[in-house]
Amino acid sequence: MWFADLNTDDLSKEQLIEARKMIGQFIKQSKSEAKHEECLICGQKAPFCNSHTIPQFCLKNIADNGKMKSFNALVGTELLSVESGVNNAGTFHIICRQCDGTIFQDYEDPQAYATTPSSKLLNQIALKNALRDINKHETEIEMIKSIKKMMHEKEPLLSFMMDSCFDSQITARSRDVEECYDIFNDAKNNLTSANSNYHLISFDQLGYVVPIAFQGMVALITGVNREVINDQYNYDPNYSVEYLHLSVFPLKNTSVIITFSDDKNTRMIAFENELKKMTITQRLEIINRILMWYAEDYFFSPKLPKEVSSQLEKAAQQMQDLVTINPEQSLRNAVNDYDLRRDTCLPILFSYEYSVV
Ligand SMILES: [Zn+2]
Repeated sequence: MWFADLNTDDLSKEQLIEARKMIGQFIKQSKSEAKHEECLICGQKAPFCNSHTIPQFCLKNIADNGKMKSFNALVGTELLSVESGVNNAGTFHIICRQCDGTIFQDYEDPQAYATTPSSKLLNQIALKNALRDINKHETEIEMIKSIKKMMHEKEPLLSFMMDSCFDSQITARSRDVEECYDIFNDAKNNLTSANSNYHLISFDQLGYVVPIAFQGMVALITGVNREVINDQYNYDPNYSVEYLHLSVFPLKNTSVIITFSDDKNTRMIAFENELKKMTITQRLEIINRILMWYAEDYFFSPKLPKEVSSQLEKAAQQMQDLVTINPEQSLRNAVNDYDLRRDTCLPILFSYEYSVV
């Protein structure tokens, strides 16, 4: 989250309320600017579906009295808590009800996760991930545009200095959107085929319910051998991001943790092989780190002890340089910070001690 490092400590109560209001308006306005007229899949102007970013049945399994916490509840910045107050957290509106109801039938069936996921299922998960990220990045772009506009109105002198920063953020997000559309188009074209462009890396089943649910694509900076997987400072338009798809699904009495990747990926191969070779305990420790360091929007059980959620909060605030004058150095720093084998002490949420059932 690009404004996660805002410091609210120096704000008075009134200023905080004002800032919250402003961010609330930005989010609302940006969501509406990013809205599509037609369903992205069938092109019809049919009513949009309240699509969930994680299958609903997973969320129920970690909820306490119907409630669960989201990542935004974690990030200490009070400004951000507004976002979790905006309704429809964890939902997006980009495809119609008809499409959502027919395309994701396997995906929405808890039984589908009792055995090794089929290619068809991986394709459905990838499609959902792409749709979600298209919506997310398009909303972010609108948000940056409105902040830029507001700065020009309120702080014209300062705004000119900030313009290049805003513009580079917009360019980066636009590139992300294009990549997501590529994934979306591939997955959409494969909906009717028995094959997909994806291969499973790992599928781990646990005999208890983990306290966390997540689904999404992450762009790993480095793997377990300090190799560069994604260099976010490479501005070559032909350089494409290689994503790892990750699902952490708490089921009724069990949990599944799935990783898979696109057949086209080449920079990921060494990491994939390492992950496959590991014991389940080692692998889950690595996936736990990926989740803590890269995922921006997971849900977790309110039953999780407070000291654990404060550790998660710390991990979530790991940030990369957004703008850099020295890309090589920034990349080296990022590889050090995101080294999946570096010495660190993180609660392993997949371990039995944190299970909710
Ligand atoms: Zn549709």
